[in-house]
Amino acid sequence: MSGVRNPHRPPSKNNYIEVGFKVSSESEVYVKASVSDQNNLIELQRIDTAIMQATHKLKTLPEREQLTAILARLSTSDELLVVAEAELADVTIDLRRSEVDVESVADRMAKDEARLSGGSASPKELDQLQHELATLAKRKAELEDGELEIMMSVDAAKEKVAVIKSDEEGLKKLELEIKIRLENAGTELDREIALKKSERTLTVPKIDVSLIDLYEKVKASGGGVGAALLIGNTCDGCRLAISAVEMDRIKSLDSEEVLRCEECRRILVRI
Ligand SMILES: [Zn+2]
Repeated sequence: MSGVRNPHRPPSKNNYIEVGFKVSSESEVYVKASVSDQNNLIELQRIDTAIMQATHKLKTLPEREQLTAILARLSTSDELLVVAEAELADVTIDLRRSEVDVESVADRMAKDEARLSGGSASPKELDQLQHELATLAKRKAELEDGELEIMMSVDAAKEKVAVIKSDEEGLKKLELEIKIRLENAGTELDREIALKKSERTLTVPKIDVSLIDLYEKVKASGGGVGAALLIGNTCDGCRLAISAVEMDRIKSLDSEEVLRCEECRRILVRI
């Protein structure tokens, strides 16, 4: 008797109901739909899957993560630049001070030498001037050594600032390139999603509204997949094999019977 429509058969979970008719007391709704409707439903699922995948791809474009990493590096680089520029300013001041010190000793030496060669100083004063000049010369040499060291520090600080600025330039160039790639990929995916949505708008009216309702309900609880093909004895939705008993029952059913996978409850469409 299986496979034969029998309106007198007592209700069981294998019973179907006509399209558009829902039994509110049952959690599962059985519908009938033409083979064409069922095939269009699989087409709708393909479109919805494509929309879902493109939307996911749009949200998880690798460029987004790359851009976040670049911005973090730029922020760190900015902080390093502030510190390096402050260091450069400090050593530049040190250098200026050192130059002033050297100049002041040199001035003093010039004055002493002028008095020494002026001929007006007493022998005691001459002796003192010579002694002072020797001390000043020693002091000047020390200051010049210090100045040289500071000049090297200034060069090192300048180099550090230049390296950071050059790194930043590279990072900013990379940031721009990634932004362009992100925009292009986003535009491409937006276009793909829009195209699929217009295909959806054309496909939905081809399918009975009750089958669409059931599909949307199952899809919402099935991770975006509401309908799947029955390939051999396997549900393409959950990739699980249908039991031999259920396959026997399916084979006996009318092609307009809307099948549900016994494992994942998705709508099964026979090829
Ligand atoms: Zn399944």
